[in-house]
Amino acid sequence: MSTPVSAFDLFKIGIGPSSSHTVGPMIAARQFACLLQSQGLLPKVTALVTQLYGSLSATGRGHGTDRAVLLGLEGHRPDLIDPDAIEPAVAAIRQERRLRLLGVHAVAFDEKEHLLFMRKSLPYHPNGMRFIALDAQGLPLAEADYFSVGGGFVVDAEGAGVRNEEGVQRPPPAALPFAFETGADLLAQCKGHGKSIAALMMDNETQWRPQPEVRAQLLRVWETMAGAVRRGCASTGTLPGRMQVRRRAADLFRQLQGNTPGAAPDPLAAMDWVNLYAIAVNEENAVGGRVVTAPTNGAAGVIPAVLHYHQRFFPGAGDDAVVEFLLTAAAIGIIYKKNGSLSGAEVGCQGEVGVACSMAAGAFAAVMGGTPGQIENAAEIGMEHNLGMTCDPISGLVQIPCIERNAMGAVKAINAARMALRGDGSHFVSLDKVIRTMMQTGADMKTKYKETSRGGLAVNIVEC
Ligand code: SF4
Repeated sequence: MSTPVSAFDLFKIGIGPSSSHTVGPMIAARQFACLLQSQGLLPKVTALVTQLYGSLSATGRGHGTDRAVLLGLEGHRPDLIDPDAIEPAVAAIRQERRLRLLGVHAVAFDEKEHLLFMRKSLPYHPNGMRFIALDAQGLPLAEADYFSVGGGFVVDAEGAGVRNEEGVQRPPPAALPFAFETGADLLAQCKGHGKSIAALMMDNETQWRPQPEVRAQLLRVWETMAGAVRRGCASTGTLPGRMQVRRRAADLFRQLQGNTPGAAPDPLAAMDWVNLYAIAVNEENAVGGRVVTAPTNGAAGVIPAVLHYHQRFFPGAGDDAVVEFLLTAAAIGIIYKKNGSLSGAEVGCQGEVGVACSMAAGAFAAVMGGTPGQIENAAEIGMEHNLGMTCDPISGLVQIPCIERNAMGAVKAINAARMALRGDGSHFVSLDKVIRTMMQTGADMKTKYKETSRGGLAVNIVEC
């Protein structure tokens, strides 16, 4: 059995625009600064070099990797930092040409010398980082490699997981009562113990924290998702970057609220609302706002959109449904984490919007009363029709196609659940097989389609 994964490893409260290029690098940079401190080296450091490799180099600037690294070295955490404090903090570092490691030890910072974008990749994963601390003679005091492997997950050179909370690895529970690695395991556990997927997940989560805390934290995740929708619906203007993409959620929200007296009800209005929720979250993500990694930031709008849809359009939906939805989605996400990938740099957008769609499809089937078999079927359909989807963000920004793609993923998830719920759970392609196919397809995909902005839309749209 591999290391247990918690629902809160997947649903991380953080900041935009990217879990792999913003959240992960901030966690890694903070981890390296904590390492220097724990080894008593911090006072001897006079400068620190960060090298960004592969996709972190190719699209790092557009994804805010440079800023995330600086903030992480200063000791900030993605779940705690105030998004409004980011710009002033980064501006101060650049202006003063000085970094305060963990906020306590000042070192020189020259952007050209100390923050390097390397074109090649490190072995192991395309999202690699190397941190080198230098002494007064300019000699290396300490050096470490980290990899941001998708969804805000970070591993060190030995493959050991790095946790966000303390900047150090937190020991996982030795075993879970209902451990599962695959979709087949999950179904067998449900059948063998007569439990729903959400009930089984809740029992597993109590190995990390008591049940009331699990529930409270899940509701906090939901409230953060809802907050992103609210802010997205209230914000106008343009998104950061040269494209000057106009924010659309606020306009759409106004249109949907304005009922024309006497007008016939629009039979497709619900779809507009689903689109709105997803667009609102992803616009917030694009401006570096507070969002929940679900299971990545680029795909942060799919799950909130489908959950909002359920909460708004299904009478009686409340907190219990939120908990059931998020636990079910997490169970599906864990199977992808263990057997697939959550990284656009590794498998293209299949691993981001594709996985989010699959998670949301299964979770929606669950709150609609689906059996474990129907839920697994919904999750499978959600991925099957995202197979081969590339990652080609224009200008390296998580905006086009990402924002609309989340709306498309959310609508597709609802349809996948509807189809599964019309069946009895038996189906031809299993979730495990579709995950295997996703990985094979990702391996065959050219690097230019994997979060490098060197192919697809990224090269076919001429920027002004
Ligand atoms: S295209 Fe998909 S994988 Fe690539 S950055 Fe956008 S959301 Fe992420």
